[in-house]
Amino acid sequence: MAIALAEAAAALAPRALAPRALAPRALIDPQRRVIDYLRISVTDRCNYRCTYCMPEDGAAPAARADVLSFEEIVALARAFVSLGVRRLRLTGGEPTVRRDLPTLARLLRDLPGVDELAVSTNGDRLAALAAPLRAAGVDRLNVSLDTLDAAKFRRITGRGDLSRVLAGLAAARAVGFASIKLNTVAVKGFNDDELAALCDFAWARGFVPRFIEQMPMAAGQTFVPGQLLSAAEIRAAIVAAHAGSRLVADDDAAGVRGAGPARYHRLVGGPETGAPRRFGLISPMTEHFCDRCNRARLSATGALHACLAHDDAVDLRGPLRAGGQRAVVEAIVAAIATKRDGHDFELVGLGGPRKAMVQIGG
Ligand code: SAM
Repeated sequence: MAIALAEAAAALAPRALAPRALAPRALIDPQRRVIDYLRISVTDRCNYRCTYCMPEDGAAPAARADVLSFEEIVALARAFVSLGVRRLRLTGGEPTVRRDLPTLARLLRDLPGVDELAVSTNGDRLAALAAPLRAAGVDRLNVSLDTLDAAKFRRITGRGDLSRVLAGLAAARAVGFASIKLNTVAVKGFNDDELAALCDFAWARGFVPRFIEQMPMAAGQTFVPGQLLSAAEIRAAIVAAHAGSRLVADDDAAGVRGAGPARYHRLVGGPETGAPRRFGLISPMTEHFCDRCNRARLSATGALHACLAHDDAVDLRGPLRAGGQRAVVEAIVAAIATKRDGHDFELVGLGGPRKAMVQIGG
């Protein structure tokens, strides 16, 4: 175990970024958006090689000494919480490849002011980790699932075993997370014929399916323009596959957190199955959601990215390691003060960011 809980608490107490010493402030960007949600990448390493995510030559992993320790992640999280952040998500890379993830989860969930802790995972190690993560206080889970076909799954993930993810999902369902969402990157010619099946799979198990438009990250290296499946096409395919149904907007549905980029819809009419037939769409390419953005991203090496679509980043590790509590808070405030409005992902190779998803906690 990297650190014992008691040790960690003791280590943090004297040097903590004491929220009480700071004037209560909220993180509000120049567009008046309130940033109350932080995605924390706990590693830039991944056990999958998803074709749309990882550039061909890989992304050079960060030097171990540059990766934040659990104590450092917790100290930075405290600083964000002192600035009004209430929801945290652990992501990566693949967060479950970081040893003792449940220990970190417990430390973060116990921070006063944290209302919710979530984890995004590819599900490969979930069969073993679902129960410990739930026991550590993780409230919500997002699991990537691009196809229900084992051969296609191996192809898109580079090495994944679908049966492991399905076992992980069953384990997660059994331990009672507040919500489990399935994230599917929609890829024309790959899974456009499976959108309805993925919805039906999710609905039958009480999960919420979500579809993400593919983004040209890593300067477009992993992006094939002809593969873009738009939000409008996704909606049309799901309605067409459910005869007699139509869509209603459902952002405020109970149990579904509508805040943030995802827009939720519900199928009504047609044969009712009993379960609510909701799905989410994240459409960075064709239907921008910048006005709803409530988030920032902390990389595994302590760089704060105010926007996924731009390469701007502010280093928090330097001030943290220099012991400057106030400097860390000021750096966060300064980063959010430069959070941009709008992006031009559509201009592949011109407007896409150079950074890869795996490096920043997508
Ligand atoms: N490994 C974890 C997982 O699978 O959820 C966390 C990190 S992963 C980068 C987060 C999400 O980003 C996954 O759902 C993944 O499919 C998605 N993603 C990665 N590259 C993408 C891209 N180019 N466009 C859209 N979504 C992408």
